[in-house]
Amino acid sequence: MDLAYTAGEERFRSELRAWLTSVLPGLPEKPAHTDWPGRRSYDCHWQKLLFDHGYAGVDWPAVGGGRGASPIEQLIFKEECERIGAPYVGVGFVGLLHAGPTVIAEGNEAQKARFLPPILKGEEVWCQGFSEPGSGSDLASLRTKAVRDGEDYVITGSKIWTSHAEVADFCELLVRTGDEDSRHRGISWLIMPMDLPGIEIRPLKTIGGSTEFAELFLDEVRVPIANRVGEENDGWRVTMTTLSFERGTGFVGELLESMRLLRTLVDLARRTGAWGDPDMRRRLGLLTAQFDALWALTKRNVSEAARDGVPGIGGTVFKLAYSEQGQSLTELAMDLLDVAGLSLEPLKTSSGEALHNDELTEAWIKSISLTIAAGTSQVQRNILSERVLGLPKEPSAGKR
Ligand SMILES: Cc1cc2nc3c(=O)[nH]c(=O)nc-3n(C[C@H](O)[C@H](O)[C@H](O)COP(=O)(O)OP(=O)(O)OC[C@H]3O[C@@H](n4cnc5c(N)ncnc54)[C@H](O)[C@@H]3O)c2cc1C
Repeated sequence: MDLAYTAGEERFRSELRAWLTSVLPGLPEKPAHTDWPGRRSYDCHWQKLLFDHGYAGVDWPAVGGGRGASPIEQLIFKEECERIGAPYVGVGFVGLLHAGPTVIAEGNEAQKARFLPPILKGEEVWCQGFSEPGSGSDLASLRTKAVRDGEDYVITGSKIWTSHAEVADFCELLVRTGDEDSRHRGISWLIMPMDLPGIEIRPLKTIGGSTEFAELFLDEVRVPIANRVGEENDGWRVTMTTLSFERGTGFVGELLESMRLLRTLVDLARRTGAWGDPDMRRRLGLLTAQFDALWALTKRNVSEAARDGVPGIGGTVFKLAYSEQGQSLTELAMDLLDVAGLSLEPLKTSSGEALHNDELTEAWIKSISLTIAAGTSQVQRNILSERVLGLPKEPSAGKR
C-alpha cells in the first residue's frame, strides 16, 4: 500500500483549492436556517457552480454523469471543501448522497437519463419517504398502500420525519405493493413527484426552531408504474442499497465538520485556560484519537464503495460510531462553554475573541438526533451483532 499522494492527486488538490479560493467570496449571503426556500436556492446555486466547473458528483461514477473520481480524490474533495468552509450539500443530501446513487445502482436507463442530471445540476431536490408513524426501526412493517390502476400506482397512507419535504421536487418513497402481512417481501421503491394531487405536506418544527422535516399525507396519489425502481415487491433489496449509501458514505461531510469543531474546541480550551484541567485534556485527546480512527474507517468505506458500487458493512459501524462520538464532542463543548452555552447569539471572550458558542450550541442541539436519524444506535447494534458477529437473531424477529 502506498500512502503518499500521487502527482495527479496533488494536482487535483491544488486546482480544487485554487477554484474554491476564487469562488467562495462571490457566494450570496447564507439564508437564515429557518428560511427553507432561501436555503434551497442557496444550496442549489452552489451545486450548479460545482456542476459548471466539473466538481458535481465527485463521488458518483462516470456512468451516472459524475466525475468518477478515485476514492482518494473523493476524500481530497471533501477535505478541501471542509478546510476552506465551502457550503455542504444541504437540501441536496437525499438526491446527491443516497437517492441518486440508488438510481445509478438499481434504476433503468430511462430513469437514469431523466432523474440524475437535474440532481447533479442542482435543479431538482429530493426527500426520503421511508418512515411512518408506526414504522421507523421496524421499517418492514410500513403500511402506505399502492394499488395498481392502469399505468399508475394509486397510493394512500402517511409518512413522517420527511426531511426537506417542503422544498423537494421528488420523494424516494417506500410503499406496500404486497399483502398486508408480506413485510419485507411486499415493498416497492418508487419515485414520487411532490406536486401530484392528493399530497399534503405538514411541516414539523424541531427543537432547533426550524421546520426541518414534515409529515406527508397521501390520498389516492397516482404515481406512474414507470417510476418504480427495481421490481415490484423487491423494494426491500433496493432499500438496503439506499441505506448502505446513507449510512456508509452519506455522513462523511458531517464527520469532517465534527473534526473541524473539535479543533475549535481545542483552540477554545487553550484560550480560556480550560487546557490546564487534565480531565479536559484527556477528553479532548480521546476524541481526537477516536475521530482519527473514524477517518481511517471512512477511507476504507469510500474505497469499498468505489470498488463494489455500494459501501459494505463498515457503513453501519461508521454510522454508529460517528453519531455517538458526535454527541460526546458536543457534550464536551457544552461543558467547556458553561453558561455561554445557554445562548445562541455569538458571544466573545474577555479578550474580545469569538467564543463560537452559537455554532457549538447549535451543533449540540442537532447532535441529539444523530443517534436516531438513518437508523437508531440500538438498531445499528442489532445489525452488527447479527450480520457481522453472527450472533443469534432477536427473539421477536421470527414473528415479524
Ligand atoms: C433528524 C432526523 C431526520 C430524519 N429524516 C428522515 C427522512 O428524511 N425520511 C424518513 O423516512 N425518516 C427520517 N427520519 C426518521 C428515522 O429514520 C427514524 O426516526 C428512525 O428510524 C427511528 O424510528 P422511530 O422514530 O419510529 O423510533 P422507534 O422505531 O419507535 O424506536 C423507539 C426506540 O426503540 C428502540 N428500538 C426499536 N426497535 C428496536 C429493536 N429491535 N431493538 C432494540 N431497540 C429498538 C429504538 O432504538 C428507539 O430508541 C429522521 C429522523 C431524524 C431524527
